[in-house]
Amino acid sequence: MVEPRLATVLNVNDDDANRYLVNRILALAGYNVLEAATGMGALLMAQQHHPDVVILDVKLPDISGYEVCERLRADPNTASMAVLHTSATFVTSDKKVRGLEGGADAYLTQPFEGAELVATVKSLLRLRHAEQVARHRANELAEMDRRKDEFLAMLGHELRNPLAAIMTAIGILERRPASDDKEARMRGIIQRQTNHLARLVDDLLDVSRITRDRVELRPGRVDLIPVLRQVLQVLQPMADARGLGLEVTLPPGPLWLHADATRLEQVFTNLLDNAIKYTDAGGVRLDVAQEGVDGSARAVVRVKDTGIGIPLGVLPRIFELFAQADTSLERTRGGLGIGLTLVRKLVQLHGGEVLAHSDGPGTGSEFVVKLPLDHAVGAPAPARQVADLRRGRRVLLVEDNADARQAMRDLLELWGHQVAVAPDGLQGVALAVSQPPELALVDIGLPGLDGYRVAEALRARVGNGIRLVAMTGYGGPEGRDQALRSGFDRHLVKPVKPDELDRILSEL
Ligand code: ADP
Repeated sequence: MVEPRLATVLNVNDDDANRYLVNRILALAGYNVLEAATGMGALLMAQQHHPDVVILDVKLPDISGYEVCERLRADPNTASMAVLHTSATFVTSDKKVRGLEGGADAYLTQPFEGAELVATVKSLLRLRHAEQVARHRANELAEMDRRKDEFLAMLGHELRNPLAAIMTAIGILERRPASDDKEARMRGIIQRQTNHLARLVDDLLDVSRITRDRVELRPGRVDLIPVLRQVLQVLQPMADARGLGLEVTLPPGPLWLHADATRLEQVFTNLLDNAIKYTDAGGVRLDVAQEGVDGSARAVVRVKDTGIGIPLGVLPRIFELFAQADTSLERTRGGLGIGLTLVRKLVQLHGGEVLAHSDGPGTGSEFVVKLPLDHAVGAPAPARQVADLRRGRRVLLVEDNADARQAMRDLLELWGHQVAVAPDGLQGVALAVSQPPELALVDIGLPGLDGYRVAEALRARVGNGIRLVAMTGYGGPEGRDQALRSGFDRHLVKPVKPDELDRILSEL
């Protein structure tokens, strides 16, 4: 906080008598006064003593007052000082304009009264103070925003651990037949709600990435059709549960894209999930087609519903972060208002665009995604046919969360593997050295020796014959890179889905 009467004023004037007079007026008014007789001298004093206000005569023997002011403004160390131009002779208004446009805050022409000078300095100090408060507040807000992002990333990470344990446990339950209809229904509920929770957690983590522009793609050659089928398979039960029809029109052939399959899944899951969520009667249509030829050929996906529609006033903002059409308290369906922001960001990262249409409340909505097709010649090699090598592997599981460890162990044993477990990194490494496994699944956030160091130790002491898979709550690209650098072959983000794990075991 600047206390005006203790402020420091630098008085720059080459006329000794004039300078002396102004010095006295300022000192009597209670300011600390510094003085300089040349432009270069003024710049030096400003650098060294950081005055609050600089009174600058425009006519100086070396460089002009205008230039001094411009140089003060150009240097971040001196840019925020208040500058008051003074002139000993009558000046035309264009000179004043030049001074003010060059960055001065005020202009006084002599002769001026002492009271006028002091009042002007005071008013400049008030302005400066207000500016400082605003800047301080902006810095505080930026810091709070950063901490919020960190908190969201942390929260997402913490939520993933319990979710991981639940999902693995569900994977095991699912492999046994339910004892009756009621149990089957209950299982269905747990399954669907856990999937929903996992999606919310993913979205939450993605918010902090979006706000920091850290969303990254890992693209490859991808056929859009199986991606959509996969999404439909997951969402069909949700449509059934709500008594909605789900009509699908797919083209006969593949639609090759240069894309990140997981992110595409996220895009269409969000759109279809919304369409189902915001529709009470009727149904949802998914139409996929190719439009255009050669360089401009695009895959066009339309998700159309007969639901609550979107008010026209909201439509232009619907893709903005946290935008929600229904903000009433009894809002029962909404999530976090992140989904569509992510959809747009991801579609844009793929070089595509997404549009929303609705004729207003009660008229349904349509979302259209257009993605450029990949023209690289030749289809990719067909997936390697793997024999059922995944059964009966020696697996080491290093995980500190007891529930997650037990559930994962049960699942792996159910698949026929021999499983050894360790609750921390040191015991994990010791076990691996005494009985080398074929595969080690290692949690990253372990007490003592963390997962990265476990991998390094295993590579050094057991060698390259062992396959290493990292499991982590952090999904960012940094974590993945660090895992691969530490010697892991694969990097899985919790909650690890049983199907995904099964697939990886067979790939290894
Ligand atoms: P949310 O988690 O709230 O669903 P989204 O970003 O996915 O967040 O969607 C933002 C808002 O857009 C929703 O809250 C809803 O008001 C509106 N919306 C999205 N899709 C539809 C749809 N198919 N029909 C009606 N409203 C929709």
